[in-house]
Amino acid sequence: MVELCALASGSNGNCYYVGNEREAILVDVGISCKLLMKRFDESGLDFSKVKAVFISHEHADHNRGTRVFSNRYKIPVYFTPGTYYGSSHSSRPTMYRFLQIGQSFQFGDFTIHTFSKKHDSSDPCSFRIEVGGISIGVMTDIGVPCQNVIDHLKFSNVLFLESNYDEKMLWDGKYTWPLKKRIASDHGHLSNIQAFNLVNEHADENLKTIILSHLSGENNTPDLAYEVFVPLAERYSILRTSRHEASEVLRIEN
Ligand SMILES: [Zn+2]
Ligand SMILES: [Zn+2]
Repeated sequence: MVELCALASGSNGNCYYVGNEREAILVDVGISCKLLMKRFDESGLDFSKVKAVFISHEHADHNRGTRVFSNRYKIPVYFTPGTYYGSSHSSRPTMYRFLQIGQSFQFGDFTIHTFSKKHDSSDPCSFRIEVGGISIGVMTDIGVPCQNVIDHLKFSNVLFLESNYDEKMLWDGKYTWPLKKRIASDHGHLSNIQAFNLVNEHADENLKTIILSHLSGENNTPDLAYEVFVPLAERYSILRTSRHEASEVLRIEN
């Protein structure tokens, strides 16, 4: 059995759980360790199964709780060198390892594929994880659907996919002009429409489930993001994440 959960998802904090009966990994710890423990409790998942953390980039909404979680529970954290050195001293854990983008490697029961993405940070990395015959893409903060994203999408059975903003809400909203431009740029975030087009144009029959992730609080709502994906709802299971609680735990028998 494979278990998946967005313990946190949104521009206010991200943490994605991928596990089987014996062990688990996290992608990003962008909420405090205290809140993470609360989310584990609420979801019924066992944090002691977590054997490693993989950090996608140094922004606080992906790295805020890493140091405390890792140091307290002696869990190694994998970074690109750019992400590690781009993180402040106060958010660097004691137990860390470097990974090179483009590398695929085995970690326990997990095969971890790493690939670069377009985002305004230092050496950012996306992950696709294979466990128990299931392939899970974790693709947030991807700026633009680059070729790496398209290639790994085709291998994914389940996708945590960024659907960050509704274009009208962004451009009509109260953010400053430079911030709006940054979010919409090729090194910012994917809009609902960009995320939809990516799946609609490039996914094949491998893909079964899309989990709409990393929603903006200011420029999106779960219902707006979902509405855009309704035309795909007969082909795929479309799930929403909340910025305020853990998602349901998705259990896949293999
Ligand atoms: Zn983010
Ligand atoms: Zn970011």
